[in-house]
Amino acid sequence: MMRGTYGAALMRSSRFLWCATLLLVFPGYGVASQGQSGEPIRVTFIDVGQADAILIRSPEGQIALVDAGRGEPLRSLGELGVEKIDLLVATHPHADHIGGMAGVINSIPVRFYMDNGQPHTTATYQNLMRTLQQRTDITYLAAEPRTIGLGSAEIEVLPLLPVNSTDHNNRSVGLVLRYGSFVVFLSGDSEVRELAFWVQQGVVPDVTVLKAPHHGSDNGFTWEFLQDAQPEVVVISVGGNSYGHPRPEALQAYTSVTPTVLRTDYHGQVTILGYEDGRYEVMLGEETVATGQERETQEQRRRATVEELVDSVPPVAPSVSGSLSLGVFADAPGNDHQNPNGEYAVLESGLSDDLQIGGWFLCDAASHCFQFPSDAVLRAGGQIVVYTGSGRTDGVRFFMGSGRAVWNNDGDTATLYDASSAIVARYVYE
Ligand SMILES: [Zn+2]
Repeated sequence: MMRGTYGAALMRSSRFLWCATLLLVFPGYGVASQGQSGEPIRVTFIDVGQADAILIRSPEGQIALVDAGRGEPLRSLGELGVEKIDLLVATHPHADHIGGMAGVINSIPVRFYMDNGQPHTTATYQNLMRTLQQRTDITYLAAEPRTIGLGSAEIEVLPLLPVNSTDHNNRSVGLVLRYGSFVVFLSGDSEVRELAFWVQQGVVPDVTVLKAPHHGSDNGFTWEFLQDAQPEVVVISVGGNSYGHPRPEALQAYTSVTPTVLRTDYHGQVTILGYEDGRYEVMLGEETVATGQERETQEQRRRATVEELVDSVPPVAPSVSGSLSLGVFADAPGNDHQNPNGEYAVLESGLSDDLQIGGWFLCDAASHCFQFPSDAVLRAGGQIVVYTGSGRTDGVRFFMGSGRAVWNNDGDTATLYDASSAIVARYVYE
């Protein structure tokens, strides 16, 4: 089967409406057929400090560069043998993603340039725009839902969060790279809002490799997103910074879904070789540090996942899983936002034994989560209360520490996850 035809691209993307579908046919395409050489696709997370630059080389040699670091990553691109770039993507116009882009454009031939169309006021952005305007040989592509062929691989561009704002991180271009069963998710500095939007749109696939959104920030993941993505490898592109990236909450979340979490500040450049059957090798220099097995097709996986969900999701309102009851009292007296401890969740045990709940999470539908401290225990037959606001825990009363209300008065979902992110109990109210 030849991959990447218009019809095939459209069929695979039927899960949501496309504004436009464009297929770029690069030189060399049409010569190599699927699996012809068993050549892998290579995804290299270049060590560019507290910034992003990800190089993709298709099995046939087509090249995409997603972000270009703060400084020009020309030496690394030279060492990687990059002589031309078929697709250059700016996920969003912050300097740690586009700072090196004008230099790349001036040094290496580029065919297509894509960004989110969101202007920025900085000199770095203005300089990049001037550079692009002078280059009539580069074709501009708007980041809208479309599939772009890269040799026998393809890049799906996700819909942007439909807000017209200067929340640049939450307008990061989201890309799903697919080479057979090997799937990579790249999304710049997207935060909770954009990740939640993609989850809600149903466009987050089961992936092999996840670039940790926003350099491993604590606002760069949600549990729902991680449950959909189920990455086998997480790479955090990060360097010395004053934001505390990567944040312990994010590291804990990633290591709870996979043991293979790499970071460019510790490991330097990380390269992943992906094969069409889903196998992969994680390389640090010449050394293979992790490998993955063949994967089931998306369809097989989807079926298995649905069955698991049917088994694992307990009844709702109020939900009882085994002998745990979860409830939410969302309507605080007065203005909820001024009285966050006026709303609370209650977890009640009908068990005859104490239950260790250290490391468990209680989350609302928007992924505002509270993690129970490591020594938390739900006593046999006992009850604990999680208040939204601040306070000192006494082992029975816990506090989310939020300055605002969390539980929506007109409907929300409370979900209790154990330390391995499995759903233990759920309470839905309307
Ligand atoms: Zn960034």
